[in-house]
Amino acid sequence: MNILRPKSFDEYIGQENIKRLLKISVNAAKKRNEMLDHILLSGPPGLGKTTLASILAYEMGKNFKFAIASALQKPIDLVGLLTSIDKEGSVLFIDEIHRLPKNLEEILYISMEDYIVDISVSKGVGAQSIRLNLPPFTLICATTKPGLLSSPLIDRFGIHGYFEFYQVEELTAIIKRSAQFLNLDIEEEASKFLAKRSRFTPRVANKLLRRVRDYVQVNKIKLIDVEAAKRSLEIINIDDLGLNDLDRKYLRALKDIFKGGPAGIDNISQFLGESPETIEDLCEPYLLKIDFIQRTPRGRILTENALNYLENNNYEKSF
Ligand code: ADP
Repeated sequence: MNILRPKSFDEYIGQENIKRLLKISVNAAKKRNEMLDHILLSGPPGLGKTTLASILAYEMGKNFKFAIASALQKPIDLVGLLTSIDKEGSVLFIDEIHRLPKNLEEILYISMEDYIVDISVSKGVGAQSIRLNLPPFTLICATTKPGLLSSPLIDRFGIHGYFEFYQVEELTAIIKRSAQFLNLDIEEEASKFLAKRSRFTPRVANKLLRRVRDYVQVNKIKLIDVEAAKRSLEIINIDDLGLNDLDRKYLRALKDIFKGGPAGIDNISQFLGESPETIEDLCEPYLLKIDFIQRTPRGRILTENALNYLENNNYEKSF
């Protein structure tokens, strides 16, 4: 269990637009004693989509069921999941919905619209199926790639929440809150220092704080100040922009091997020895956000900003 995960709207910092929208929907659904509409949450990894989905179940006072679309490969996987919903109003959360195979989408639409699922009991000509009724439920799906979803699927969600990167002040508040849960004393300036290097992402903020915790514990430091935070990040090679070894390797490869691009994701990931998903999920959202790379139909391109960074940071030529 993740003790740092906020449990209610009040504990959830930032994403004010989505929160406002969802608070209204929750209140209205509760007043009418109805199901919460199906919800699609999209945005880069680590911004709090899963957390918000679990908060919605909590605020509605309903069960929360978690699944990941990459584990749903055959019809029986999805049917099994849907038929495991046993309480009316349950919230079913499916993460990475863009990974759901296309031939399973129809099963999902029908269950979303009519709360039924058809199970085939024989194949070929005259194939037969049994229809099962499901308890009415709310489906919440999350995706980092909404562009990969088919429009019939998107159309079945009543609410679409777009997540944005966090402000430094919000991340500072998240770090302070997490420090309390981890029993750490941290100075305001040290929280800000870490927030600025968190890639505008709460998951990264919490990860950095855990590394600082290791450092201060080993070195018997009672109060985390900027100096302690700085030392901790030096050990894991995180620089002032929050870039790590993999980001720098990516940027260097794009500059030196691919001559500034355009370079395809498959070629870049092959060169770096990482999967395209890792590169797309962990490196690129932030590099795009700080305008270090651009994504074009022909591939990734290095920007002027990245070139300046590489020049000023006097990086070692390793290729
Ligand atoms: P996603 O599903 O978008 O990848 P998660 O919901 O798993 O992101 O969030 C990653 C971590 O960041 C969570 O474990 C939680 O501790 C923290 N977190 C995310 N959003 C917030 C927030 N708004 N306030 C406080 N902590 C947050």
